[in-house]
Amino acid sequence: MNEIEQHVRLGAYVHIPFCRYRCDYCAFVTFTNRDHLVDAYVDACVRQLERETAECSPLATLYLGGGTPSTLSPSHVGAIVQAARLAPGAEVSIECNPDDVSEALLSGYVEAGITRASFGVQSTSARTLQQLGRPSPQQSIEDLGHAVAKSGLSSWNLDLIYGAAGESAKEFSATLDQVLGLRPPHVSAYALTVEPGTPLSRTPERFPNDDHQANRYEFLNGRLTSLGYGFEEISSWSLPEHQCIHHDIYWTGGNYLGIGAGAHGHSSGRRYWNSVSPERYIEAIETGVSPVVGEEVLDAPTRALERLTLLLRTAHGVPWDAIDHEKLQNLGSKRPLVARQEDRAVLTVAGRLVANTVVQCLVG
Ligand code: SF4
Repeated sequence: MNEIEQHVRLGAYVHIPFCRYRCDYCAFVTFTNRDHLVDAYVDACVRQLERETAECSPLATLYLGGGTPSTLSPSHVGAIVQAARLAPGAEVSIECNPDDVSEALLSGYVEAGITRASFGVQSTSARTLQQLGRPSPQQSIEDLGHAVAKSGLSSWNLDLIYGAAGESAKEFSATLDQVLGLRPPHVSAYALTVEPGTPLSRTPERFPNDDHQANRYEFLNGRLTSLGYGFEEISSWSLPEHQCIHHDIYWTGGNYLGIGAGAHGHSSGRRYWNSVSPERYIEAIETGVSPVVGEEVLDAPTRALERLTLLLRTAHGVPWDAIDHEKLQNLGSKRPLVARQEDRAVLTVAGRLVANTVVQCLVG
């Protein structure tokens, strides 16, 4: 990824802050009691998108995340997609709660311009979901696969969370058997983390165990690799031609617009974020005021180091010389933490498990 490619790809993230319930581990900006705002909120996102895409290059990606964007109807989604000035062949993604999914809804989204969907399955084990404080799904993973197969989506992803307290290796393996049986083109799997202020943070008996999480990660990576999935980023794997372009914009330090309440954007070293209140966001857009409530501007060295930090987590890796290899050796790992691929240093599986430590060996 050279500098030119990095700058020509502009993305837009649209935050949909509505959920039917609140999961115990979740710290995202989302609300379970604001459904009455949906129409006005979508109108505001449409207006912000129209305003902000009028004078910039066409969008390579549009990503509706949340919250639960699948609380929106196809006509809401269509209005948002229509408002974005998209480049030909743009990737247009939506995050979905599997419980919302039907063949009709997904087909409606595809007609509205969606090309890629991401389904937050997390686990197929009722016990693990209970530990996570997330309701068990109303429909089976097979029903989800059936709806996706009929929908006409170009690509799709399944999200998993691993490492909940009490989740056995057998339960995790069974979840993988079920979800990988659908042959999703893309898989994202996140180690459960304890976010401050969440119900999970107040119940230490549900805290994840680091060693168990590392074991689950190695097991997961082995299964995915044996099935032909390529490592994309520490938490993402894909089949050939199914990489997520929007996330790659994030991972390569690219530019993206932040649309909606609580959304973050980035423009050539300036990071900004919008009001987290849907009411204040709507009011700002309706009165022609900027919804941005904060920003930080990175100086060139900070930005360069941040870009390396992001790249290190990906299959792109970093220039070999961007790592202090003596310092890396001194970490004393029994297994190599990076591998040389031509002139790049790419994390090994062992390196991915301690990526935050390897980052300290980057030469800014
Ligand atoms: S994890 Fe997803 S579904 Fe659960 S509260 Fe957070 S955004 Fe909503």
